[in-house]
Amino acid sequence: MNNYICTTCGVQYETAEQAPDHCRICSEVRQYVNPNGQNWLTLEDMLEQGNYVNVIHPEESGLHSIHTTPDFAIGQTAYLIEGKTSNVLWDCVTYLDPATIAEIQDFGGINAIALSHPHYYSTQVEWAEAFGAKIYIHEDDKEWVTRPSERIEFWSGESIELDGDITLHRIGGHFKGAAVLEWHGGNNSQGVLLTGDIVRVAADRDWLTFMYSYPNFIPLPASTVSRMADQLQEMKFDRIYDAFHRIIDAEAAEKAQKSAKRYVAALSGELFET
Ligand SMILES: [Zn+2]
Ligand SMILES: [Zn+2]
Repeated sequence: MNNYICTTCGVQYETAEQAPDHCRICSEVRQYVNPNGQNWLTLEDMLEQGNYVNVIHPEESGLHSIHTTPDFAIGQTAYLIEGKTSNVLWDCVTYLDPATIAEIQDFGGINAIALSHPHYYSTQVEWAEAFGAKIYIHEDDKEWVTRPSERIEFWSGESIELDGDITLHRIGGHFKGAAVLEWHGGNNSQGVLLTGDIVRVAADRDWLTFMYSYPNFIPLPASTVSRMADQLQEMKFDRIYDAFHRIIDAEAAEKAQKSAKRYVAALSGELFET
């Protein structure tokens, strides 16, 4: 019996004798099936191969990024936040080895794992079991959980407080239950927003974007982007970290608003002539 992992999205499935015949996450318009065919492996295979390392890097006081090298599957970055009373892992990566567990235990372990959306569910249950943590997923994304666990708490409504210092907000868009994390104490209490790829930082680090599907280049409706921008306006942050380790260091709230306006103008044909 194995917990198979899809090598394209890095998401792990419930215990089974055989690998699933397809990956539910990849067989959907927001991801893609590898053109060379569906492939599976297990976490044990990755540990045996011995060619992966998790790099845990300090970003600012109370925040570390976690990234697997070489890149595996989608290649996202997770973040470990030291809140007032607990440590929260924002999003997750597939690879988990004893060295990672030992290093994170030195920071006091992980109390809660919060997910932006299904593409980063990875081996969240392995992480939750290794650290005795609870997993927080918005109930609107329940159907995408491929490895159920008693450790998963499905939250509802528009926001949930995880720690006096950390709040999750469902802002939707990329997925119905898509969430961002507002860290009040971050950035010398000017506030930090961790966005996954629900809001992505553009190449110039001056603009942001919002997409339904990144690999398949499908935009979101203008009305959805405007609603997301309205929700972001209610949050207090000056800095953003996204899922691909792109950072907007300052004035991120203003940049989110101007980016939403530009996006809507582009969709409605008011930004440029072509
Ligand atoms: Zn997949
Ligand atoms: Zn995604």
